[in-house]
Amino acid sequence: MTEIRKYFDEVGAVLSGHFQLTSGRHSDTYIQCARVLENPNVTEKLAEYWCQLLSNIEVDLVIGPAVGGIILSYELGRQMKKKAIFAEREDGKLTLRRSFQIEPGEKVVVVEDVVTTGGSVWETMELVKEKGGEVVAVCTLVDRGSNFNPGVPYFPLLKVQVDSFTKEQCPLCQKGVPITAPGSRGLKK
Ligand SMILES: [Zn+2]
Repeated sequence: MTEIRKYFDEVGAVLSGHFQLTSGRHSDTYIQCARVLENPNVTEKLAEYWCQLLSNIEVDLVIGPAVGGIILSYELGRQMKKKAIFAEREDGKLTLRRSFQIEPGEKVVVVEDVVTTGGSVWETMELVKEKGGEVVAVCTLVDRGSNFNPGVPYFPLLKVQVDSFTKEQCPLCQKGVPITAPGSRGLKK
């Protein structure tokens, strides 16, 4: 875990300040996975950990929800020499476009960058099941202390307990510290 945290620190993915999370809550810590994903060599190293963790699990296909899961799906699929696809939102619902297919019975790994509540991972798992696929594992870069349990082998590389507050209870707001919203909600419509 320490070795993995070093990769995140080296690329500046763990930010300190005053942030509005995608949920609307405020926090003094933000994990910006784009700092990892913009460094292909770091992304490659991190996906190698997943490969080791998945070594005893049979896999046919990798899928990640857009946007955070696209690069990770590709990189894991590349290393495992398996097909890699992504799900994206259409009218607010995650779906397969671009003629991406999941064949009935295919064993599928779901990948995502950050789990806060696990919402997009759940939705991707449901999509796989709808298509008749079987979710055999979930891999994420960061779990923000969610107690998320997908019911299949779950491999978050970094677990970070991030305290968050409502706007009214936020100590940084009370000190008048300017806030930023670094999330990608605008892309998740
Ligand atoms: Zn605040």
